[in-house]
Amino acid sequence: MIIVMKNQATEKQIENVINWIESIGYKAHPSRGVQRTIIGAVGDQRDKTALKYAESLPGVEKTMPILKPYKLASRESHEGNTIVSVGPIPIGGPEFIVMAGPCSIESEEQLLESAYIVKKGGAQILRGGAYKPRTSPYSFQGMEEEGLKLLEQVRLRTSMPVVTEVVNPADVDLVESYADMLQIGARNVQNFALLKKVGQSRKPVLLKRGMMTTIEELLMSAEYVLSSGNPNVILCERGIRTFETTTRNTLDLSAVPVLKGLTHLPVVVDPSHAAGHWKLVIPLSRAAVAVGADGLIVEVHPRPEMAVSDGMQSLKPEKFYQLMDELRAIASAMRH
Ligand code: PEP
Ligand code: MN
Repeated sequence: MIIVMKNQATEKQIENVINWIESIGYKAHPSRGVQRTIIGAVGDQRDKTALKYAESLPGVEKTMPILKPYKLASRESHEGNTIVSVGPIPIGGPEFIVMAGPCSIESEEQLLESAYIVKKGGAQILRGGAYKPRTSPYSFQGMEEEGLKLLEQVRLRTSMPVVTEVVNPADVDLVESYADMLQIGARNVQNFALLKKVGQSRKPVLLKRGMMTTIEELLMSAEYVLSSGNPNVILCERGIRTFETTTRNTLDLSAVPVLKGLTHLPVVVDPSHAAGHWKLVIPLSRAAVAVGADGLIVEVHPRPEMAVSDGMQSLKPEKFYQLMDELRAIASAMRH
């Protein structure tokens, strides 16, 4: 942390700040300029909140962090890009990865049909929720363990790795025994008990940005998982809440290059929950590839009109095939 003194700060105030820094366990390195003095406070800066208090001391103008608070997620601590393997599928490398499938697992037929559709279109990973975090307690809550069992059968029959959501720390052991990747949904991005629990898992984690979390808060949530021992985290931009009401959320596409600059972790986009309407899914997906995302997670249903959740934003099979053709064309144009 750097502590910048006011230009009229007295020698006594400077000495007082130096003594305070040392009294809380840091080493002070003052640098006296003609105009003003700055003081470096060196030590374990993972929890810098204590040093921030310097702003309340007489003669101090401001404090400036040197290191990012998300130490493990930051590019400062890791050279190159992290590639996360979901089953045999690498995410974060040269290939653009598509995860697709229904919002909810509804039945064996629905899941198997969905898996064949998305596989035929070229998706590498199947998505499907068995535990659904719903805004209303009266909405379908998911098939729970029965859904996980269907997921396992479909995973075996199609050889597709699967990603599925976990909403409760008590269910992590169960869900990870069926899933190739654990999804933490937008509503749980700051459920720290859940983040710590998936941090102890050996399965990768798909961490979705909350509708009201900043990019820094998302990275701090990733830090919970990383610092609990799990290095395999994929970040997902899925739209944030703004004043705009014509779309379900506002897809923050700028989050993709911003995150890419700040972190070594892979970044994917969920156009389905961002838009809330299937008509917007193809245009937003085009933009996601072009802006540099490592992949997509998209909702597809064989009969969206019959879906028990998120039917409005789910692509029909033909639309999904069209999306995949367009993505291949854009990805190849970008390589040239
Ligand atoms: C989902 O993936 O079905 C879901 C509930 O997503 P989110 O947490 O982004 O709303
Ligand atoms: Mn959904």
